[in-house]
Amino acid sequence: MTTDSPFRPALERALSHALDHLDHLEQQPVGARASLDTLRTRLSRPLSDAGMPAAQVIDALAADTAGGINGSAGGRFFGWVIGGALPAALAADWLTSAWDQNAATFACAPAVTVIEKVCGGWLKDLLGLPRDASFALTSGCQMAHATALAAARNALLARRGWDVERDGLCGAPAIRILSGDQLHGSIARAARLLGLGTGAVRGLPVNAAGQLEAATLQQALAESAGAPVIVVLQAGDLNIGAYDCFAQLTPLAHRYGAWVHVDGAFGLWANASPRYRHLLAGVARADSWATDGHKWLNVPYDSGFAFIAHGDAQRRAMSYEASYVTHNDHVREPKDWNPEWSRRGRGVAAYAAMRELGRDGIAAMVERCCAAAHALVTGIAALPGAELVWEPTVNQGLVRFLDRTPGASESDHDRWTDEVSNAVLASGEALFSNTTWRGKRCMRVSVCNWQTGDADVARAVAAVADVLREDEKAGT
Ligand SMILES: *Cc1c(COP(=O)(O)O)cnc(C)c1O
Repeated sequence: MTTDSPFRPALERALSHALDHLDHLEQQPVGARASLDTLRTRLSRPLSDAGMPAAQVIDALAADTAGGINGSAGGRFFGWVIGGALPAALAADWLTSAWDQNAATFACAPAVTVIEKVCGGWLKDLLGLPRDASFALTSGCQMAHATALAAARNALLARRGWDVERDGLCGAPAIRILSGDQLHGSIARAARLLGLGTGAVRGLPVNAAGQLEAATLQQALAESAGAPVIVVLQAGDLNIGAYDCFAQLTPLAHRYGAWVHVDGAFGLWANASPRYRHLLAGVARADSWATDGHKWLNVPYDSGFAFIAHGDAQRRAMSYEASYVTHNDHVREPKDWNPEWSRRGRGVAAYAAMRELGRDGIAAMVERCCAAAHALVTGIAALPGAELVWEPTVNQGLVRFLDRTPGASESDHDRWTDEVSNAVLASGEALFSNTTWRGKRCMRVSVCNWQTGDADVARAVAAVADVLREDEKAGT
């Protein structure tokens, strides 16, 4: 028997605190309430010489962080683009830690290596990507970009007779990155990490629908003729969830010899639903893709995926040989595809999420989030004093609030829009994060959580209505 297991007391306390948190999200304020000072006072204690029993450490952690944990695991957290964690994914993530395998090699992590290979295959199938694309399981979309663009850098320079892995970038032809100007900051950071520099990134103006137009891209490609070029297309931009027209832009970029990379951090998941798949028509012809597991698949954090149509380029960019590793040609060695060496078996949680939901469950989750985003945005926009800015096509939309003071200016509306979001946060009923879009402050509505349902939407709309009603009272 294992009653005297050194692990049991701490793990049982962790389970109890975890359930306390997850099962009470409905009754708790969505946003963290503890102030920075409180959290610092409780947590930044001097490191003691003497240790303490493991279970007590866990109890102290729960006590010291109380009020400092956002309710992002629940159904009324609509800020940024944040997913929750499906039960199987969360539990599998715990097991991953218990197993504590080093997912660098098959020898270190036999079962996990096989799980990750299967995971890659399932993902390509769900996301509509080429069956023979290579992949990497990264910490998030940021590192998926870095991985995919490292492969792009290799391929574009190899074609020009330059071995970037051996010779670096000094003296190499300068790579340029072209994209719509609504690109996520993680692309610029990938350019920094890869030594391309942010000066290499050119954001091109998008049309009213947030899409890069063929004529705009063509002109930029023509201006870059002869240079190695990466075109980054958007599958769901961060504000309005806009999708570039892959069927049109990918062949155009290829005619100029460019590498096409797709940022589909959350938006690539629309492919899992027959209702939204059309947004991704032609996406499979790109050269690389990056997405997240911790957003729309609802896997705990530390889950991103890179896919590359040219496995040889990814391998040249990433593979690692060392005298103390035995190479096994019969299995996929994760270290040859990933930017890291030692790492957790992060594919296990994603594998568990896909098994829990199945193909139909993932499609239903995507559709539920889109329906909730639509109901939230239109429900809030219908309130007196609110304005519809972007009606969601997928899971992202924008609303704005108008200052009712006579003669109020755009900057008054901007300030009031921020105040409304803060007041909703203070009510504890929901959390929205704001953005500046086309020069205006907007409340950004993003729905990525597997739990968000009609009751959550109703509660959130009611919370906004309460804030606006208070304002009306104050004004009369
Ligand atoms: C979240 C996001 C990213 C970055 O993803 P991480 O997982 O945070 O690294 C990149 N692009 C878009 C469109 C995103 O929404």
